[in-house]
Amino acid sequence: MNISLARQTALVTGASSGIGQAVAIALANAGANIVVNYHSDEEGAAATLNAVTQAGKKGIIYKADIGQEEEVLAMFAAATREFGTLDILVNNAGIQRDGKFSELSLEDWMAVINTNLTGQFLCAREAAKEFSSRGKTEYSKALGKILFISSVHNIIPWAGHVNYAASKGGETMLMESIAQELAPQGIRVNSIAPGAIKTDINKSVWSDPVQRKKLMELIPYGRIGEPEDIGKAAVWLASDEADYITGATIYVDGGMTLYPSFASGG
Ligand code: NAD
Repeated sequence: MNISLARQTALVTGASSGIGQAVAIALANAGANIVVNYHSDEEGAAATLNAVTQAGKKGIIYKADIGQEEEVLAMFAAATREFGTLDILVNNAGIQRDGKFSELSLEDWMAVINTNLTGQFLCAREAAKEFSSRGKTEYSKALGKILFISSVHNIIPWAGHVNYAASKGGETMLMESIAQELAPQGIRVNSIAPGAIKTDINKSVWSDPVQRKKLMELIPYGRIGEPEDIGKAAVWLASDEADYITGATIYVDGGMTLYPSFASGG
């Protein structure tokens, strides 16, 4: 299999750390230019850009809160000014604000929904507009590709994290409905649903021996995922090798969604 994203430009949200950073670097290694979106970690964004440049590709850093419409519009305008167009959007940025349900504040509910769902909607809408107005290219079969970084919690309920689980469940319907609407134009829309991947978002779990042991019981494949595991899946899903795939969710989770507690008979 010969995967090349040469001549394509990808915008990756939340690309200053974790999964977003690894996806941005993997896409650059496959030949894409990268718009590195970040929210607060400028140093992390600079490290991502540095790796993109090392891969021989062009990149720009763009600070924007994806939950703010004006900032998203300005980011897409800057991206198309710099690169002429966009070919791939990776809707990765996401947050957790955990808490017991009966004590969950409206602020924490809104913060998670605004980033994980509204932000994804705004970026996907702007990407779709750009793909449609640009028209077909000779270097990719699809008119454009949108990847959501979802979560196994789009189907696994998660006590103490109801805002997060609701945002990821909603994101799946958002992704599938967009995929249905845009398929006739040749735009592919898919999700990657990670299991437990070693990043800042869950550092408190994997860095604590007791919590880590409990987590491992949920992963049949016996290891915590690395951000690069998601990067590899993203490259393939964004490439012409996955040209017939739209509206799909690919679980990259070491078997977390296989109901591991039933392995011994239930
Ligand atoms: P992370 O905290 O390293 O990355 C999240 C990124 O999103 C950060 O760079 C952060 O700055 C950015 N961000 C947050 N709010 C933003 C905003 N309003 N605008 C722009 N950027 C914003 O954690 P991660 O694990 O790399 O998470 C990336 C995605 O993967 C998230 O959507 C998360 O829900 C999902 N995910 C992660 C795991 C895991 O185990 N790590 C599992 C399932 C899903």
